[in-house]
Amino acid sequence: MINSHIHLDFDSVKSPSKTTTGIIVPSTGKDNWDNVISYCTNDNNCHFALGIHPWFVDNHQMLDLYSLEVLIEDEKPVAVGTCGLDYIKVKDRNKQRYFFDEQVELATRFDLPLIIHSVKATEDVSVLLKSYSKSRGMIHAYSGTLQEAEILMKMGFIFGFSHNFSNPHAYKLHDIVKFLPLDSILIETDDHNNSDELIEVAERVAKIKKISVEQVIEKCEENTCKLFNLT
Ligand SMILES: [Zn+2]
Repeated sequence: MINSHIHLDFDSVKSPSKTTTGIIVPSTGKDNWDNVISYCTNDNNCHFALGIHPWFVDNHQMLDLYSLEVLIEDEKPVAVGTCGLDYIKVKDRNKQRYFFDEQVELATRFDLPLIIHSVKATEDVSVLLKSYSKSRGMIHAYSGTLQEAEILMKMGFIFGFSHNFSNPHAYKLHDIVKFLPLDSILIETDDHNNSDELIEVAERVAKIKKISVEQVIEKCEENTCKLFNLT
C-alpha cells in the first residue's frame, strides 16, 4: 500500500503503518527541502518532491525559484510540489499565481509530475495548467467540484483523497469518487498523524466503487507508481 502524500518529516506525523510499502514525501518550501531529501536518503521506498506550497510563498523570493531549479537538477525528485493556489488562506493571489506558474513551467521542463494543492481556486488552477500542454500530476486532497474534476481528468490529471474523504458524510467527495475511474484515484494521509487513515480511505473508496479493498489498494499503488515513475 503506497501513501501518495504524507508529511513524514513533520514532528507531528507518526511513522506510516506496517502495511505501507511506499511513500511520497512532498515539501512545503526552502525550509524543508533538505529535510525531505535527507529523510528519503537510503530508503528505496521513500520518494521526495520539491516545491513551494502556496501557504509559504510569502517566505520566498524569485531567487528561491532558481535554487529550486538547481536542486531539482541535482537531487532528482519524483515530482515538483507541493505547489498550487489557495484562495482561502493566502490573500496575495498574484504572488501565488506567479510561483505556481513558474513551478508548472519547471515541471514540464524537467518532465516531472506536479503535486498540486488547490483550495477554492480549482478553476484558476485548470486554466493555468491548460496553458502548459505537457503538464501532468495529481491534485492532492481534492476539494473542488465534480465539474472541475471532469475538466482536470480530461487533461490527464489524477486526484488524491485524504482523511476528509473517509468521513461518511462527505457526500460531495463521495460523488466525485463515484464518477472518477479508478485509474484517476490516489490515496493519501497528508499531515494527519494517524497511520491507519490510509486504509480507512481505501475502505471508503472500495465501498463507493463496490469493489474489494485489495483491488483499491492494488490499483492506487499502480497509479502512484505510474504517475511518479517509481520502479
Ligand atoms: Zn500536504
